[in-house]
Amino acid sequence: MDLLEKAVAGERLSQEEIEALFAYPLPELAAAAHERRLAVTDPEIVTYLIDRNINYTNVCTVGCPYCAFWRSKNHPEAYVQSFEEISQRVAELEAVGGKRILLQGGVHPELPLSWYEEMLRYLKRHHPEVRIDAFSPEEILGLERLTGLDAREILARLKDAGLDGMPGAGAEILVDEIRHKAARRRISTADWFRIVDAAQELGLYTLASMVIGFGEGPKERALHLVRIRDQEDRARERYGRGFAAFAMWTLQTKNTAYAGKAPEASAHEYLKTLAVSRLALDNIPNHQASWPTMGFRVAQTALFYGANDFGSTMLEENVVSAAGGYDRTHATVAQIQRLIRAAGFTPAERDVFYNVLKVDVPEPV
Ligand code: SF4
Repeated sequence: MDLLEKAVAGERLSQEEIEALFAYPLPELAAAAHERRLAVTDPEIVTYLIDRNINYTNVCTVGCPYCAFWRSKNHPEAYVQSFEEISQRVAELEAVGGKRILLQGGVHPELPLSWYEEMLRYLKRHHPEVRIDAFSPEEILGLERLTGLDAREILARLKDAGLDGMPGAGAEILVDEIRHKAARRRISTADWFRIVDAAQELGLYTLASMVIGFGEGPKERALHLVRIRDQEDRARERYGRGFAAFAMWTLQTKNTAYAGKAPEASAHEYLKTLAVSRLALDNIPNHQASWPTMGFRVAQTALFYGANDFGSTMLEENVVSAAGGYDRTHATVAQIQRLIRAAGFTPAERDVFYNVLKVDVPEPV
């Protein structure tokens, strides 16, 4: 059987086979990925989520050279938002019908675990209907070092205080040779999986992700995908549920010390990797397009390269935009609906677990 036929049939591919897919012409990969997407998710609809990013602090001790967002603790632009400020932003989301925040910061050297617990309790008290997906494995690792507790204990306490999920930010390329060449102090592959596994064991929402453009090649991308797929198998077997979805985007390096140090991934590379990811991740059905890094047009194109979801409104986004992502930090619900319709699909609002909440009625003709 031809490799593409095998992939379209949903058969498990070896790491070498995934790597070999990158050599196929883009149109063939696109056709295979789209066929697979139509087979495993609702072929008529493209989903989206109404949510908001909140970056509670930009203070970070990790100092990744490709990040334009972080500041040292004593930098004049360093900030930590008050509970009231965060709450005000949540209220703005509620005003447009959103029920989920994505709360992320840097690794603050001094904020105690009790600050995070109090912040979560404060938000849940004032916004009981809003789910809070927050922190990355890197932030949890920072809390391990600060408190001496392990990730499971920290996450259990945060969950008790109101945490609903811990998205898997900071995955980038889960191959240490690549990630530590790009950022010496970045969380290791083993720690990333250890902390994600702890979150999954506790029943917290998690998301699998990948960022391309660090100078990695097909071999490292294939290895990353296999590692994500293995974790998904493990989590399903042990805890009954794994990642909610897979999201992939390109590294943005404008305004960073990393600019020019690695070839940034083009739209062609993005679409190719998206298609390969769809074929490689036979156990993760939902794949997101990334309009904040690629722009609306490429994101629409991505709907024919394996993606079945248009991401979220992200009312506020500071990390990608600080590094010169596509010139947008948010999209309105109407914009997202229009873009999905223009691509030939029916837009449908979803929750974080990809349950459809509302299929949007067609516009009058
Ligand atoms: S990417 Fe995250 S961990 Fe790295 S410097 Fe930026 S905020 Fe800190």
